[in-house]
Amino acid sequence: MSSKSSSFGLWRRWCAVPLWLQILTGMLLGIATGALLGPDATLLKPIGTLFVNTIKMLIVPLVFCSLIVGVTSMQDTARMGRIGFKSFVFYLGTTAFAISLGLLVGSVIQPGAGLSLEGHDLTAEVKAAPSVMETLINIVPTNPVAALANGQILQVIVFAVALGVALVLIGDHGKPAIRVFESLAEAMYKLTDMVMKLAPYGVFGLMAWVAGEYGMDMLLPLIKVILAVYLGCALHVLGFYSLILKLFAGLSPLQFFKGISNAMAVAFTTSSSAGTLPASMKCASEYLGVNKKISSFVLPLGTTINMDGTALYQGVTALFVAQAFGIDLTWVDYLTIVLTATLASIGTAGVPGAGLVMLTLVLTTVGLPLEGVAIIAGIDRVLDMARTVVNVSGDLVATTVIARSEGEIDVEHYNADMETSARM
Ligand code: ASP
Repeated sequence: MSSKSSSFGLWRRWCAVPLWLQILTGMLLGIATGALLGPDATLLKPIGTLFVNTIKMLIVPLVFCSLIVGVTSMQDTARMGRIGFKSFVFYLGTTAFAISLGLLVGSVIQPGAGLSLEGHDLTAEVKAAPSVMETLINIVPTNPVAALANGQILQVIVFAVALGVALVLIGDHGKPAIRVFESLAEAMYKLTDMVMKLAPYGVFGLMAWVAGEYGMDMLLPLIKVILAVYLGCALHVLGFYSLILKLFAGLSPLQFFKGISNAMAVAFTTSSSAGTLPASMKCASEYLGVNKKISSFVLPLGTTINMDGTALYQGVTALFVAQAFGIDLTWVDYLTIVLTATLASIGTAGVPGAGLVMLTLVLTTVGLPLEGVAIIAGIDRVLDMARTVVNVSGDLVATTVIARSEGEIDVEHYNADMETSARM
């Protein structure tokens, strides 16, 4: 057999491997390559960036078209309002829990104990975080085209919902436009499918870069913060979310995690919940059996306002900074951290490193030294990977629970194995 036909056979076998296994393989090969090449692995980063750009390309048209289709198919504005209210309560409640868990883990593990940085001259490059009020006011776009062009998801949501409601209200006149959006939304789902096939290679490039860039020398001194954040994230996802799925939806957590594994892998490697949105939408409808009516609204909303992982990380790192600088916090400080981080999470963009910017807001509010941000910045990407997985999983838990409460989830589809459900 010629080498050409044998490599073709190998390629065909690789293509037949399920996507989640391809992504996992890409991730593991990436880590190995990064460890082998060290900082030279940065050369592979463009492969990852190309993938990230390709998924970013989908976000605005996907959210815009699918949300309009979702709203117009609902036909019932009272129901829309109810789903919006449920999402908001769910998102804020789980975020407040996440930060409390972060504070608890930080108190038990004491990641900053023994570092004694008081008096050290560390200068942090601190960017200004947007205020909560600013975020709330900017929710209505003055120019929807600019909102679309700049990828302002919260503004895009507001405009798409308003346009969808108007299209329903004008009755027959709205039908041609609705048909156009339906067709565009279908095309966007197909495009997402195509782009996700590139995920294993993008994930490989990103993992090789991270593993090569952050060698052990950089990670070891701060290993306790990393462990605390990862432990908190694992407890929140595997413990808290599993409980919510069981209690509020009566659904199997194991099926859930199997169904969202692709989105989790994309979140981990890209560190962007906004970037993961197309993958999350695909998982919700294709593997969890959630009706697109629900996922097209609850998921983009969650991507912008729900940041459980970021809140948890802020709890751990705020305590880390307090411990490292030998500052005692009172229970009022703890409460302030919970409140600020919960509200700040609404204004945190789902992009890499956004949580670090918001950390400055939390530290300032309780009067902790901003130099703490400089220490965390060195390892932030590694923490970002874990917290983004939590952010994305939280959005998908909310979508599943809300869909279940609205009778908009196909439970048989949810419980089917992944290969079967992908074909459903
Ligand atoms: N990278 C996170 C996300 O996209 C936000 C953060 O930096 O905490 O969800």
